[in-house]
Amino acid sequence: MRRPKPPEPGREFHVASPEEIRSGRVTDVYFLRGQQILEDEGENPEVVAEIRASSFPDDWPWAVFAGLEEAVNLLDGRDVRVAALPEGSVFYPEEPVLTIAGRYLEFGILETALLGVLCQASGIATRAARCRLAAEGRPVYSFGARRMHPAIAPMIERAAYVGGCEGVAAVASAELIGITPVGTMAHALILILGEERAWKGFDRVVDRRVPRVALIDTFSDEKFGALRAAQALGDRLAAVRLDTPGSRRGDFLAILREVRWELDEHGFAGVKLFVSGGLDEDRLRELNRYADAYGVGTWISSGPVVDFSLDIVEVSGAPRSKRGKLSGRKHLWACDNCGARGIAPATTKLGKCPTCEARVRSLQEAVVARGKVTGGRVPAPEIRRFCIEEVNASRDPFLE
Ligand SMILES: [Zn+2]
Repeated sequence: MRRPKPPEPGREFHVASPEEIRSGRVTDVYFLRGQQILEDEGENPEVVAEIRASSFPDDWPWAVFAGLEEAVNLLDGRDVRVAALPEGSVFYPEEPVLTIAGRYLEFGILETALLGVLCQASGIATRAARCRLAAEGRPVYSFGARRMHPAIAPMIERAAYVGGCEGVAAVASAELIGITPVGTMAHALILILGEERAWKGFDRVVDRRVPRVALIDTFSDEKFGALRAAQALGDRLAAVRLDTPGSRRGDFLAILREVRWELDEHGFAGVKLFVSGGLDEDRLRELNRYADAYGVGTWISSGPVVDFSLDIVEVSGAPRSKRGKLSGRKHLWACDNCGARGIAPATTKLGKCPTCEARVRSLQEAVVARGKVTGGRVPAPEIRRFCIEEVNASRDPFLE
């Protein structure tokens, strides 16, 4: 067998570069062929295209719109007009979340990349939002960078954060978001140093502002581990972390109850229980009784994609659409008074709410105008605050 050549510089990891993405290299080849044919035919009409999802994965009643900043960065410099829901918005099936108007060849080949940034980020943000609801006020941290390609860890954890995670573990992700990364201690440290040396070493070496959270389930029973950690660090111990192995999951609630009981009995009522390992929304709801905080990995970082599609709804000013889609440019409106929302043809003027007669407002905002970005670049902590308001005002997905 021939020995494989070493990779070319810049090709060590199998990812597209920002230049390749922005120039349309990550496109399905049929868009390139379509472009050649349109150019050959001398056609490049003004079109309006809309992005929407006709249904959501896992029977979600709503989803969180995320990935807008990357979409805006992708379209920056293209001669188009783009309006979109603010990032972090809750939206429903069939609602247009983003509308592009301009000459088709200006943006057509970007469809693949544009959908990709929105579909994945929205799925992850929705999972994070649902986990936050399931945890009923307990903080949920994103621990899932390790389950996905590292090149996209910052994107994944930003989406998890804007959806409602309290913090993220990976350093590059936290930097993108503009927050301090969150972590406890790795099993590796305990395996190398032993429990007590690792706990005390952490306490001695790590910045005082970092809460002391001792990992307790590496070698011994969680209950005795928790007590030894509490005795070793005294009132500096903020929490113990239990990282559930799948094999122990059945009786995990009983283990948590026992740990809580023993800590309380021995005067360590202030020590919290931090739980991680194979958690999902249902599991959070079961463990809320004893757990105080969660680290959620795979469930959020591998969130199912929202199947957005991009459809042309208008060509040279005339409504047009494929079968099964509503033609023509649309308003997505909402009534702040009664919560009603709906879709109306953009040719109609937005007026009174059909339910309560209050004035309704259009939900999409301009983000790109004639090649200049005019919106859609909002600091992640602000998007997160907005998203939490949106989610809290929506139907409880667990009561569906
Ligand atoms: Zn109303």
